[in-house]
Amino acid sequence: MKLRDLYTKIKDILKEASESSGSEALSILSKVTGRSREGLLMDFEEEVSEAQSQLAISLARKRASGYPLQYITEKCYFYGLELYVCEGVFIPRMETEVLVDLSLQVIEEKNIELVADVGTGTGCIAIAIALNSQCEVFATDISEKALRVAKKNAEKYQVQIGLLKGPYLEPLLHFLDRVQLIVSNPPYVSTLAQLPPDVQKEPSEALFAGEDGLDFYRNFFSVPSLLRGKTIIMEMSPEQESGLRELLQSLGTLSFFKDQFNRTRFFKLEME
Ligand code: SAM
Ligand code: GLN
Repeated sequence: MKLRDLYTKIKDILKEASESSGSEALSILSKVTGRSREGLLMDFEEEVSEAQSQLAISLARKRASGYPLQYITEKCYFYGLELYVCEGVFIPRMETEVLVDLSLQVIEEKNIELVADVGTGTGCIAIAIALNSQCEVFATDISEKALRVAKKNAEKYQVQIGLLKGPYLEPLLHFLDRVQLIVSNPPYVSTLAQLPPDVQKEPSEALFAGEDGLDFYRNFFSVPSLLRGKTIIMEMSPEQESGLRELLQSLGTLSFFKDQFNRTRFFKLEME
């Protein structure tokens, strides 16, 4: 089969699952043939092997059944970076880029020298901060797999990030007095939520945080004295604003920020 015909075939398979079936078809063909997207267009008249055609078609069917494209291509994009991602690790979202902007502002305003990213996943937030500031950066996760992926991504961009395994503040305890800013996109989805098929393929420990989605915050802030004087910036779900106000207001100065879609998506807490 010619590449052109294979492209048309997998684009058709993808049509039902995606509004950008043409672009996704190119991504899958690029993965299968090892060509760049531009290279594919130039080679459209060339023949592809039967094995490659079969593989491309089966990946397109997998994608059409609701499997995330990023897990197929093993690539995701965040803050201008191309990062490695694979099944078992949360795929960075565009909204979280705003969390990086908010963090960089605070880093500049307060001359922050040491930042910790709790629940780093692919390492996207930590790497973006390390590349765009002079800060020393630590990143933690409970997932061994996430930490391996974050290490690979940090090496790709040649940034030094201290990667530590453990829940909440635990991996930071022995140097917590030096940590001035803690940032996090934690799990905040309600266990009662009905998620779209592609999100269901992401690791549940990256998403769910109890019935009201607030369990991570409750645990993280359970010993407020540990966080005295620090700034915390975290992502949240828009409908959690009042719950978070109730939980955090008494601990310091609390403010909320919106994402690119004008939805309340982050809070900053300056701990007393
Ligand atoms: N920061 C990445 C991003 O924005 O793409 C990943 C965010 S994902 C929503 C949450 C991450 O937190 C997952 O990688 C998960 O393994 C990790 N995680 C979940 N519970 C945690 C806990 N108690 N302590 C530390 N990390 C946790
Ligand atoms: N925004 C994610 C979603 O699409 C949830 C992310 C999180 O829990 N941190 O469901």
